[in-house]
Parts: sequence; C-alpha cells; structure tokens
Amino acid sequence: MRPKTIFFDENEEPPSRCTEKSAAHHPSLETSTSFRNRYFPAATEENWNDWHWQLRHRITSRRQLEKIIRLSENEKNSFHFQNATLPLAITPYYAGLIDPDNPEHPLRRSMVPVTNELLVSPGESPDPLGEDCHSPAPGLIHRYPDRVLFLVTDYCSSYCRYCTRSRMVGRRTNGGKKQWQKAIDYIAATPVIRDVLLSGGDPLTLPDEQIDWLLDRLRRIPHVEMIRIGTKAPIVLPQRITTELVEILKKYHPLWMSIHCTHPDELTAEVREACTRLADAGIPLGSQTVLLAGINDSVETMRRLMHGLVKIRVKPYYLYQCDPILGSSHFRTPVSKGLEIYAGLRGHTTGYAVPNYVIDAPGGGGKIPLIPETVAGREGNDLLIRNYEGKIYRYPDMIGAADSLARQGAPPCE
Ligand code: SF4
Repeated sequence: MRPKTIFFDENEEPPSRCTEKSAAHHPSLETSTSFRNRYFPAATEENWNDWHWQLRHRITSRRQLEKIIRLSENEKNSFHFQNATLPLAITPYYAGLIDPDNPEHPLRRSMVPVTNELLVSPGESPDPLGEDCHSPAPGLIHRYPDRVLFLVTDYCSSYCRYCTRSRMVGRRTNGGKKQWQKAIDYIAATPVIRDVLLSGGDPLTLPDEQIDWLLDRLRRIPHVEMIRIGTKAPIVLPQRITTELVEILKKYHPLWMSIHCTHPDELTAEVREACTRLADAGIPLGSQTVLLAGINDSVETMRRLMHGLVKIRVKPYYLYQCDPILGSSHFRTPVSKGLEIYAGLRGHTTGYAVPNYVIDAPGGGGKIPLIPETVAGREGNDLLIRNYEGKIYRYPDMIGAADSLARQGAPPCE
C-alpha cells in the first residue's frame, strides 16, 4: 500500500502550497492535483503516488523544466554548462511545490541551477571535508573512531544545488552488492565500529530488496550497535515511504533516520504522512538542515521549519553551516547569521525544537558546535552566565572556583 495524497483540514496551519488554502496565498501556485492534471495529464492518482513513477518522470532537462517554470536568464544560461556542474533532477512531486514565476522562491533556488555555480571562490574545494582521504574501502568513510559513513549510492531522486557530495552524486558509478561487500568486510573486521550511517546519494532510492540485503548484512555484525540512514526521500519523494519499506526497516532496530530538510514549505501533508509511518514503526527521526542564504537564513523561517518538524515527530538535530564546495558562495551566509538564528531559537522555543548549529570542519576535523557565548565570567565563587534574553545570572560554583584556583597555583606541566 502506498501513501495517498492527503490534505490538511481547514483548521490546520497551511503546510505548503499543496493545499488549496496555501495556493490561495500564492496566486501562481497550484494544488498538487491541479499541478498533476496540468503537467502530467496522463498520470492517474495511483501513478502520482507510486515512487517508481515519480523517479521515471523526474525533470532532468531544460526542456522539461521550461514546461513548468518560467526560467530566468540566469537559470537558462546555466544549462550551457550543465556538464560542468551537478546534474539536474527534480521529482514531479517536488516540482509541484516550486513557484514557477519567482526565481527567488526558496525551494526553486535549492533545486534549479544558476550560473553562480560556476564561480569558484577562495577556500572552496570539491571535497572540503576531506572524505576521500579517509576511505579504507570504496564508498566507506572512516573519519571518527567508532563510526563509519557508508555511501551506498550516488543517486538521488532530486539534486540539491548545495550538496556537499556534488563531486560524486549523480555520476552512476556505484558498484552495487559487490562493492558494498568490500565495505561490509571492512566493518566486520573492525570491532571498534559500533555505528554505521548509510548515506550517498540517497539510500532510500535503492530497491527494497537491496535495502533489506544491506541492513541484514550489517545487522549480522555483532559489534554494529546502531544503524542510521541519511535521506531526503521523505521530503522530495514521500511516496517512497511505503508500508512495504517500513516493514523492512523495522526489522533492523535500533535503526535511526536523519531527514534532510530545508524550508517549512517542504512540510506538506504527504511529508507528514511519510514521517508518521516511520515514527509509528519506532524509527527515531532527526533532521539535518543546511543554512542557506536567501532560502532559510532568518529566525522566522527557521523557527517555522523547526516547529513544523517537531509537529511531525522529527527532532531538529543539526543546522549546518554550508560547506565550501565549489561554486557555493551564493548559498553561504556569514557564521554570525547562524549564531543569530541559534540565539533566536534557544530559550525562545522548546529545547527539542533547537538543532545543534555546527561547522563540519574543512579538512576532516569533524562537526564542531557553535554556540553564542553564555559564560560571562566569574566573580569569587560565582559563575556569571548569560540567558537567552542577554541577562546575567549567578550560579554558586564553589567547587569550580576552588578548581580554578588550584589550576592557577599548579606548577606548569613538564
Ligand atoms: S539529497 Fe543529499 S546527497 Fe542528494 S543531492 Fe541532496 S544533499 Fe546531496
């Protein structure tokens, strides 16, 4: 059984342009059904709700895109250089969420190429995280001692223009089970690995049988305590979260899922249905969001996104400073903007709705959290701490004061 296209009722907040109500707020936006009828008239509702159909009908060329979007000159020109950049792919479902008239529309900017991608700025690199240097087997990154990143496919249903792995996604270079077996052998032979993160590309674009095979092989390794899946499928291809897939996933607990999301307009009824299925199957859901200039770089947008995620049982997990991949300067914000957003969330809303703001350190240093300064100093036995309103409070930290004095008096280390 597949998820059906469903709509929020009139009393709920409009989740996206998918409802008639939200379409009314944006005169150029259509409902999911009218979008389908207009641009895919031969498709039945069953087709539309079939993830295979969605993948077969991805928008992958300028010609297809122009049928549904009035391209700007910048967007048109980018297609002269298509071989030099990340491929274009957008599922019909996600294309239906894009404003056809506004090149600045957040979801449009995250998926439709522009010529700015050709501009390489200082500090940018094809592999800023240095992943390729930490690869003991094809597709496997072993950067942290107790966990590995297992890139099981380079294919995504839709390609985000700011993708950290834009150097490799969409190239169709994956080796399938033969290649995966080498990575699995490495994991099995390395007892220190207790956590395996399946990513890519998008692992949930693989067929059910291959996902089952991968999870089964990993679960047979006694020291693998947890398995995680990093995916954008619930957001760009919610039809993928079928009951059949969920039945497979729930056999392999503890299984966690990190869902990549960008903007509150993505949180449609279909996405809610997909996340409900996953959460009901006992899969803890966390979110990963990249901070993007002009897309989600305001406290208001980020608050709406985080609140929307909590409502569909996804715990906001990471807010990433955009990685300096080649041609990404038009997406990057100053770090001060991220700190401002973090400060605008922390204390102002439920703690569960506040993600960790991190920089994945260039060169392979791992995720480093960034937080506005909250320790304002010390007076005698008191630690001075700053709250979310900027007010200073005192915490009686006698033990800390004694420890601090002892350190000051201690001889230097030899
Ligand atoms: S879904 Fe993830 S892997 Fe795929 S293009 Fe987007 S960021 Fe990259």
